[in-house]
Formats: sequence, structure tokens, C-alpha cells
Amino acid sequence: MPWTDQILMLGPIAIFILLGVIYYLGTTLSSKTKAIQIMEAGHEKLMRSFNELDEQAKLIVRTDLELNKAQEELDKRLNGIIALQRTSREISQALNESEIFQKLNPKLFEELGFSMVLVSTINEKGHLYRRTSTGIVEEKIPDMLRRFEQDEHLKTALNESHAFSSGNSSRQTKEKIVAIFAAEHFVLAPILTQNGTIGFIFVGNRYNAPVITQGDEELVSILAGQIGQSLENAQLFEKVFRSSQELELKVKERTKQLATALGQVEDVSRKKSEFISAVSHELRTPLTSIKGYAAILMAGKIGEIPDAVKERLGKINSHSDNLVALINDLLDIARIESGRVEMKFGLYSVKAVLDNVVDILGPQMKDKEVKVALNIPPSISHFYLDLPQAERVFINLLNNAVKFTPKGGTITISVSPVLDKGFLTFHVMDTGIGIAPDDLKKLFDEFYRVDNEINQNVKGTGLGLTLAKNIVEAHRGYIAVKSQVGSGTTFSFTLPSSAEAYESVKPYKTM
Ligand code: ADP
Repeated sequence: MPWTDQILMLGPIAIFILLGVIYYLGTTLSSKTKAIQIMEAGHEKLMRSFNELDEQAKLIVRTDLELNKAQEELDKRLNGIIALQRTSREISQALNESEIFQKLNPKLFEELGFSMVLVSTINEKGHLYRRTSTGIVEEKIPDMLRRFEQDEHLKTALNESHAFSSGNSSRQTKEKIVAIFAAEHFVLAPILTQNGTIGFIFVGNRYNAPVITQGDEELVSILAGQIGQSLENAQLFEKVFRSSQELELKVKERTKQLATALGQVEDVSRKKSEFISAVSHELRTPLTSIKGYAAILMAGKIGEIPDAVKERLGKINSHSDNLVALINDLLDIARIESGRVEMKFGLYSVKAVLDNVVDILGPQMKDKEVKVALNIPPSISHFYLDLPQAERVFINLLNNAVKFTPKGGTITISVSPVLDKGFLTFHVMDTGIGIAPDDLKKLFDEFYRVDNEINQNVKGTGLGLTLAKNIVEAHRGYIAVKSQVGSGTTFSFTLPSSAEAYESVKPYKTM
């Protein structure tokens, strides 16, 4: 077959194939276009999300920066608070003013974020003067303070207890402070005490410093308050310290005066004892003669004497007896007071001594129908004393108890141990007339007798209790009395139960 025929034969096939190819390409193209369109939409979506993410990332970075800044600010403030708390504790412990200002060191203010500091208080003349400063030329300070003082506006603001700072004050105030202290950022807080404003604390930074915040102002105000409080405490301490020193001096002086006075009293007392002793001796000798002559005359050795004279001689005799008793008491008191009595100590049975004393006074008690009760606990057996002297104490007290207790009354003698000291306490208690409080105070004085009916009728010297006190004190014990008018009287006194108990107490002078 010729090639033309062949071509003619292939034509429709080729067309068919071509059409097929065109169709195929057409359908493929449209699906590709669709896919591209879908991809483009997806891309757009992605771009949007990406942009959003980008925005969020920027926001996060921004927030992070701000957080860092805030954290830094917080750290700064925390450091400031820690430093402030440390300083507050230190200055509150300071005992004088200069110590307080020494503690306000530059490091504290550095930690608070300030390079300039001036603390000033008002002196006695009413002028501000520097107490401590940092970052300000010292020579310039007097002039600064003078200018501050002369500015009525600033002075009034300070006196009204205001704290002002570059952050909160008016333009006028700010300009004035900047002009005086040459600090663009500042806080100025008054130092307050109960008496009002006594100074101020100024802190500041020159230029290019962070802006003052309310927090800064609060911290400086707290510090100013603490300074005021500590100054007040220090002044109080100084006052107390000074007055305690003055008191100590006065006490020393007074002690010296008292020691001198005591010396004089002891001297007078010694002279008195010597005088009484001498006079008593002088009196005793003629008295013994008088008594002797009266006895001779009464006995009728010189001749018969009439009854009337005999009666008078009897009176001379009994008065002489009274006088001899008085003189003996006086001599004993003088001897015990001056320590001239040699005490002969020994251990004696408490029961035996008290039984004996009660026995001696038995007839008097019987006469007055007075009952006596003896109360000695079984745990108490002995005491350590000079027997004749101690017996005089018991006899004197019992004698008085009988004398001042109406018929049918009761006298109780009891004894109990004084805790720890090895001394025994004796109580002689009666149900008698009692003693008024005013008389009680003078009861142990020499010659003191209560002015009452019994004393007016019964003779006495008023020396019995003085003697009893002297004897008890010579045993290193003490005596006391309690009484109620109309109900009775109790004398209580202590005596040592052993030599160790006696030795354990320091001797003291009887007066
Ligand atoms: P005198 O007994 O010689 O007067 P005292 O020194 O013994 O001297 O006593 C002084 C005074 O104390 C007594 O005069 C009396 O007024 C008062 N007095 C002492 N003991 C008692 C007592 N038990 N009850 C009431 N008064 C008493």
C-alpha cells in the first residue's frame, strides 16, 4: 500500500488519539487547577496561623521582658526590705543617739537604691543639723539645711508629718527640693516622736535614676518612723541610766551618812550602857547598906522599936528590894548590850526547862486561877542556850501574861521549829487585856509601860521586855509581839536548837 493511503488510513486514528490526548490533558488540567486552588486556600490558612503565632510569640517575649523587669523590681524591693529590717533591728537595740546614726550606713541606702542620704534632727536651739549623710558634700550641708529651714512651705509640710517624694509632690515642692538638694529623684520623710517632728531623712538620686515609686516612699517612711522610735527609746534609756547613776550616788552618800550616824548611835549607846552600869553600881552599894540597916533595926538588934516604925521599916525594905531588882535589870541590860556578859551555852531539854518555869510561876497562876497549857511536839527535844538568861525571858513573859490576864484565863506556851534554820519558835499566848497598836510599837523600849489600870496598881519597871529582847538577840534569835485589845497577846521568839544553828546566824548588836 502506498504511503499516502497509509497516511489516509492513519488519519482518523491519529485524530482519535489526539482527541483522546486532548481530553486527557483537559481533565488532568482541571483537576490540577482544583488541587492548586485547594493548596492555595490551605497556604493562606497556614499563613494566617503563622502570623497569629508570630503575634503570640512577640506577645510572649514582651510579657517575659516585662515579667523580668517586674522580678528585678521585686528583687530590689525585697533586698531593700531585708536591709531595712536588719537596720531597724540594729537601731532599735542602740542605747544612745550616736549609735543609732552610726547604724544608718551607706550600704543600707545602696540596697534601698539611693546614692544620696541626709539625716537631720533639730538641736536645742531649734535648728536642723546633720546627724549622718552619704553622697553629699559635707561642707554644703549646713547651707542646704539653712535653706530648708527658711522655706516655710517645706517646713510646714514636714511639720504636718508629710512624707514627700519626686513621685507624688507638687511641681513647686519638687522644684524647691531639687534646688536645695540637687537630686531629681527623692523621698523626704519626717522623723516623728510623741513630741512631733524632730527632723527628717532625705534620700535621693541625681539624674538618670529609676523613677521613685510609692514603694520607695513607704520604705523610707518606715525607716524614718523606726529612727524616731529608736531615738525616743535611747533618750529614755539615757534618762533612766542617768537617774539610776544619780540614785546610786545618793544611795552611796546616804549609806555613808547612815554609817556615820550608826557609829554615833553606837557610841552614845555604849556611853549610855557605861553610864547606867556605873550609876547602878554606885547605887547598889548604899542600897544594900540601907536594906541591911533596915533589916537590923527590924530585927530589934539595936533595941525594941515601936510597931509603927517597924511598919515603915518594912516598907523601906520592900522598896529597897524593888530598887535592887531595878538596878539589877539595868545592870544586866547594860552588860548584855555592851557584850560584857559571858554567855555559858549548853544543850537543855525543852520540856524540863519549860516545866521548871511553869513551876516557878505556879503559885501566881493558882492565885489568879489562870490555867496553863504546854504544847511541845514530840519531834522537839533540846535547845542550845544560856540557861539562867533564857529562863529570865520565859519568866518575864509568863509573869506579864499572868499579870495582864483576868481570872480564869488561859496561857498557852507552844513551840514549833523554824523551817531550815535550826531555830525553835516559842509562843507565849494569853487571853488577857491585850495591847493597843500604838503601845505595841514602843513595847520593847526601856521603861515603857502601858498606861492602864493594872499598871497603876501593880509595880513594875518597864525593863522586863527590854531585857527579854536583849537576851533573845544575844542568842541570835528575834522576838515579836501580836495583840488585840480585849482578846489577848502573843509573844513569839526564837532560840537555837543546836550549836550549829546558833553559829549559822551572824551575831548582831542589841540596841
Ligand atoms: P513591866 O512588866 O515591869 O511593866 P515589861 O517591860 O515587862 O515591864 O512590860 C512593859 C509593858 O508591856 C507592861 O507594863 C504592860 O503594859 C505591857 N505588857 C507586857 N506583857 C503584856 C501582856 N501579856 N499583856 C498585856 N500587856 C502586856
